[in-house]
Amino acid sequence: MARPFASSADLGEKRQSLEVLAEGVYALTAEGDPNVGAIEGEDFLVCFEALATPVAAREWLARLREHTDKPIRYLVLSHYHAVRVLGASAFGAEVIVTHEKTRELIAERGEQDWASEYARMPRLFREPASIPGLTWPTATFSDRFTIDLGGTRGDLVLHHCGRGHTEGDLVAWLPRQRIMFAGDLVESQAALYTGDAFHRDWSSATLDRVAAFGAHTLVGGRGAVARGEEAVAAAIAQTRDFLAVMLREVGAAGSLEEAFRRTHRALAPQYGSWPIFEHCLPFNVSRLWDELHGVERPRIWTAERDREVWDQLQT
Ligand SMILES: [Zn+2]
Repeated sequence: MARPFASSADLGEKRQSLEVLAEGVYALTAEGDPNVGAIEGEDFLVCFEALATPVAAREWLARLREHTDKPIRYLVLSHYHAVRVLGASAFGAEVIVTHEKTRELIAERGEQDWASEYARMPRLFREPASIPGLTWPTATFSDRFTIDLGGTRGDLVLHHCGRGHTEGDLVAWLPRQRIMFAGDLVESQAALYTGDAFHRDWSSATLDRVAAFGAHTLVGGRGAVARGEEAVAAAIAQTRDFLAVMLREVGAAGSLEEAFRRTHRALAPQYGSWPIFEHCLPFNVSRLWDELHGVERPRIWTAERDREVWDQLQT
């Protein structure tokens, strides 16, 4: 029997855990579903990531409101993927910040990505009719963007570390607390999605820059919070290893099908049981095959192309 498409048959609710990482610094993790966070300024809040729909986002905000009632001034979005951004309207943020490439990607492929991600993982789209449309940033930057948190709280600094999970990822860095929100550039005990990635940049210079911050606490895009320098290093190393194995196996293959079989065989013993591994792998291998054969920018995923690649590889 064929595998159900992507995560279309994954309907089990995940347990969400709100963790206070330092005074006024919050993370909500969800057993491998997308993570979100929030940082308190002196008289305002910065929220990190928006979830897939306003209804899903409002559930997160209700939990956050048990800790703080400050108004949300900034909503920071780590990259353009639908399950990270389409809940944005629930926040009522004064400013929505992304990297400048993220704005371009939303304009170029935001609609297609929405349809693609909805079909791949419908469970994350709580009441999809609540989405008012694409999310547009109101502030963008190329290298870094600093938010003064006010009082004696220090800064929250958004950095672009190079091409990685997408062309326009950012990380949010609290230098004083040495806490990083890394978006999907780092996963902690969750499989990587690399269907829109630049594997060679990501696995080398980009992760080098992420590691160089010396975070003591890291919230990845999915999976548990990495607490302590050892756990942070392990999450970054896991992300790098996953990419290195993909590069080695796809690079050695003579066809796309062989690339998928080789990569699956090499990754499954260590990563096969982690969230969304089977879901992601056909899309990951397809993109890396393109990248290694001269396709500079990721081709746009549409709901139709998703099915074609799935049927070709994940049988
Ligand atoms: Zn993503």
